[in-house]
Amino acid sequence: MPILVVGSVALDTVETPFNRMDGVLGGAASYFTTAASIYDQVNLVGIVGSDFPREHLDFWRNRSVNLDGLQIQEGQTFHWHGRYHMDMNTRDTLDTQLGVFGDFHPVVPESYTQSPLVFLANIQPELQLEVLQQMPHAQLTVLDTMELWINTARDQLTEVIKQVDVLLMSEEEVRQYTNQSSILAAVRHFFTLGLKYVVVKLGSYGALLFGADGTYFSAPSYPLEEVADPTGAGDSFAGGFLGYLSTVQADASGSFAIDDIKRAVVHGNIIGSFACADFGIGGLTGLTMDDIVKRYGELVRYSHFDPNWTPQGAH
Ligand code: AMP
Repeated sequence: MPILVVGSVALDTVETPFNRMDGVLGGAASYFTTAASIYDQVNLVGIVGSDFPREHLDFWRNRSVNLDGLQIQEGQTFHWHGRYHMDMNTRDTLDTQLGVFGDFHPVVPESYTQSPLVFLANIQPELQLEVLQQMPHAQLTVLDTMELWINTARDQLTEVIKQVDVLLMSEEEVRQYTNQSSILAAVRHFFTLGLKYVVVKLGSYGALLFGADGTYFSAPSYPLEEVADPTGAGDSFAGGFLGYLSTVQADASGSFAIDDIKRAVVHGNIIGSFACADFGIGGLTGLTMDDIVKRYGELVRYSHFDPNWTPQGAH
């Protein structure tokens, strides 16, 4: 099942306490596309400038990514400059240059309209809405966002939340949006907006899945000794989540089995862990399904515990 993604395609400058890279391929849609294309065909909607290196386009073309919806315009590609703190988790945005992204309006090509799975990666909420309007028959729609839009475009973001099935948010973003200290209370608020699932990402601690039907599932993270660059971990998580779902069948009404939704969250954690282990998209480029299978097995072992316990000698 092909997956449609809309989001930023960027040339980033990333600084960590240990390294600095200039002009690396970045952007939410780039991380997602690279990750999800390990599983299935990705239909990319976005924009780049005339400075965008052709090698990145060739790289995607070689892994069954459809670029019909990627506009190439005279001007500069979106540029983001971030610097991580010593904890390798929090970061400051030092600069954002919109370039050709400034007056971008996504156009979904005819060849994409049959994509059953849609990912609205980090981008202005009104542009995410424009894509939803062009995809009225999508089977599953998944939304990601960032603090910037919670603070500057809250009403439009709420409108998008009302129209999608699954929301992916970090724990901090959930608190920022809902103003609740309890994640459970915050998630209850989201379900009043019509979502089917909310996935709360806990960074290096894994992710929590909540369902409107009462489902609760805690997915472990893969323990990494060294994090090289956490940029794009959330987008790579989404790539694993939707990538896995693209390989399984929904039921006649278009719904996925809950066990598949849980496996999708585990795939998200696995792909996110690979993304953090190298700079830029480096952790994803050589990744194979065998690597994913191995880490899946390890996570099952790390988180499984014996259900056959009965209290002895209790009064
Ligand atoms: P993440 O680490 O998952 O938040 O994703 C980081 C990526 O988001 C970087 O590669 C940036 O190019 C991209 N990014 C940063 N700021 C924005 C923004 N305002 N709009 C869209 N994408 C952005």
